[in-house]
Amino acid sequence: MTTDNTHFLSDQIKSLGESATLKMSALARELGAQGHDVISLSIGQPDFDTPKHIKDAAKEALDKGITGYTPVPGSVKYREAIVNKFKRDNGLDYSMKQIVVSNGAKQCIANICLALCNSIDEVIIFTPYWVSYIEIVKFAGGCPVVLKAPIENDFKVSAEQLEAAITANTKLIIFSSPCNPTGSVYTKAELESLAEVLRRHKDIFVVSDEIYEHINFGDPHTSFASLDGMYDRTITVNGMSKGFAMTGWRLGYMAAPQWLASACAKIQGQFTSGASAFGQYAAAVALDSDLGPTREMTKEFERRKHMVIELLREIPGFRVNDPQGAFYIFPNISHYFGKTNGTDTIYDADSFAMEVLNNAHVACVSGSAFGNDECMRISYAASEETLREAVRRIKEFLADFA
Ligand code: PMP
Ligand code: GLU
Repeated sequence: MTTDNTHFLSDQIKSLGESATLKMSALARELGAQGHDVISLSIGQPDFDTPKHIKDAAKEALDKGITGYTPVPGSVKYREAIVNKFKRDNGLDYSMKQIVVSNGAKQCIANICLALCNSIDEVIIFTPYWVSYIEIVKFAGGCPVVLKAPIENDFKVSAEQLEAAITANTKLIIFSSPCNPTGSVYTKAELESLAEVLRRHKDIFVVSDEIYEHINFGDPHTSFASLDGMYDRTITVNGMSKGFAMTGWRLGYMAAPQWLASACAKIQGQFTSGASAFGQYAAAVALDSDLGPTREMTKEFERRKHMVIELLREIPGFRVNDPQGAFYIFPNISHYFGKTNGTDTIYDADSFAMEVLNNAHVACVSGSAFGNDECMRISYAASEETLREAVRRIKEFLADFA
C-alpha cells in the first residue's frame, strides 16, 4: 500500500467538505502548540462554563444511576421539559411524540435532511449560512440553492428574494435566526413576510434553527412555527450548546410534525441511539430552571458586541454592521483584496484569514466557509481584554497593506 490511501474512501466522503470552523480552530491550536501566542476567535462557543446548577444535576443523575440507554428520541423527563419550554417561551403546543433529542443540533439537522431530501429536491439556504448546512444537504442527497443576502440588508433575505428562488422542486428552506455567522435577527415582521410567501406555495418545509434564541439583544424571539399556517411545515431546531454554555455536552433537540419526528428517530435509532442519559437529565433541569445565568451571559455578549464593533470600525476599510444577536460579527474586509505589504498579498477572504492567523496570530474564519467571500467571521465569545488585543493585532498587521 502507498502512504496515500485516500482513494479507498467512498465517493460520498470524498465530496464532503471539512467544517471550516473546526478546521480553523485546529490550525490555531497547532500554531499555539508551536509556541505562538494565538488568539482564537474562530469557534462558536461561549467562553463561559456551564452554570453550576446544571453541572450539579448531571452529578446527581450519575449518583442516581441514570447511566443506561434512554429512548431513542430522548428521555421522558427531558422531552417533557422541552414540551414545556416550547409552550412557555414560544407559545407552541407540541406533544412528546413530536420531539427528538439528538447529539447536538447538528445531528438534528442531519436527521431532518436525511429524512426529507431526494436528489431532485432543492433546499434554499439563506446565505451567509452556518457552515454545516450546505454539506449536510449535499450529503443527504439534496440540491442546495444559496440565497445571498447583502450586508446592506443586515445579511437578511427579503420576501421578494425568497419568492424568486422558489421553483417546483423547492422542498426545504434552512436558516438560523439569530444567525450564525452574521448575528442577524429577523424581526417578527420580516419572518411574517417570509411566511406570507410560503402560504402561496404548498409543500415547502422550513428548518428554523433557533439555537441562539436566548442570545438576542433586541425584540423578544419569534419562533417561525408560531406564525399563521407555519406550524405543520416547520421544524424548529434548538439545543443547549449556546444559551446554556453546554457545547461539549452534545445535546440538541427538534420539534416537528409527528410523521417527520418519527422518521428522524428511525434514522437516529440506526446511527447513534439516544443522547447521553445523565446529560439529558441535567438539560431538563436547565430548561426548567430560571434563565438568570443565560440572561447574564447574554448581557455580557451584548456589552462585548458594542465594544468590538467600535474597535473594528476604527480599522480602515472594514464595513461593519450592528447585529442583534448570537456572538458573531461578520465584517466586510474586501477593501484589502489585491493589497500587499511588500511581503504578503491578500487575494481574497481565505488568504485574509490565513495572513491574519500566520502574522497577527488571530484566528477568525473566512466568509467563504459561510457562502460570502467578502467577509470574515469573528466570534466575540472571549474576554474583553482578549478581544481588544485581537483587534489591535489585526489593525496593526493591516496598517502596512496598500
Ligand atoms: N446551528 C447553528 C446555527 C450553530 O451555530 C451550531 C453550532 N455552532 C449548531 C447548529 C450546532 O450546534 P450543536 O451541535 O452544538 O448543538
Ligand atoms: N457551530 C460552531 C461554529 O460555528 C461550532 C463549530 C462547528 O460545529 O462547526 O463555530
